[in-house]
Amino acid sequence: MANAHIIDGKAIAGELRRRVADAAAQLRQRLGIIPGLATILVEGRLPSNAGEAALIAEIEKLNLDDRVDGILVQLPLPPGIDAHRVISAVDPAKDVDGFHPVNVGRLWTGLGGFVPCTPQGILMLLRTMHRDLAGSQAVVLGRSNIVGKPMAALLLAADCTVTVVHSKTRNAVSIARRAEILVAATGRPLMVGLDWVKPGATVIDAGISPVAGPNGKNRLVGDVDFAAVRAVAGAITPVPGGVGPMTIACLLRNTLIAASRRRGLADPML
Ligand code: NDP
Repeated sequence: MANAHIIDGKAIAGELRRRVADAAAQLRQRLGIIPGLATILVEGRLPSNAGEAALIAEIEKLNLDDRVDGILVQLPLPPGIDAHRVISAVDPAKDVDGFHPVNVGRLWTGLGGFVPCTPQGILMLLRTMHRDLAGSQAVVLGRSNIVGKPMAALLLAADCTVTVVHSKTRNAVSIARRAEILVAATGRPLMVGLDWVKPGATVIDAGISPVAGPNGKNRLVGDVDFAAVRAVAGAITPVPGGVGPMTIACLLRNTLIAASRRRGLADPML
């Protein structure tokens, strides 16, 4: 079989970033609005209640800061800090990661809150291959709150028939092999081999894992054995250069949307 079409996430993300930049420039010219994104990176040596209280206090300050439209808390947090409490402290209107329970509920009920960046980007990549996803058999490998679950919600909203595979799933390989759309988000390097993939399927690889290369230097690989699977898939994303660039572009997109919504403006056309 011919090699799969390689979905160029870097180029597609570059295009989205240009559109976001244009829309941001218009917002600035017309209304003097400069979208602001605050990023909180917690150092590993603050694993204490004091660390959590300080972090939440910082988030509450940013919630009230009118210059800030989006707040991103870098995950994972150090042990001892409750990620649920921290995420819940973010104002849902500034939750550009889409992890706050209000936005999670909005996603699952179709109410249009903020959608997590990685699955949002993956859906955009899928749309470059499939204008209509309705009725497609989709399998998501992984059920994290960051990738797997919101991915399943988005595919369901696009009228796919969705199966979610996790570490306790029996017969994962045969379930995956039924998929027309296969999204891998397990963090298990190169787990998805040729036998996991239905011929002609679209395979999206969210995984990023460092593995030792032949020269002793680490290189990044995905969950999918790209070299093997590209021979059977219809389309496939590379790692790096697939999902990763889309995540960053969607974060910028969400920030621009937050800046607009907070001022009662319509969402920019992106
Ligand atoms: P998590 O570790 O939070 O979740 C991994 C999921 O995979 C879990 O649901 C787990 O199941 C499941 N899993 C683990 N092993 C298996 C297995 N053998 N078979 C089936 N399912 C399995 O990871 P994340 O979702 O945060 O990230 C997944 C990957 O995506 C990582 O490589 C991460 O680096 C990458 N990532 C990439 C991003 C990007 O921008 N490209 C952004 C975010 C993440 P269970 O729930 O049962 O434990």
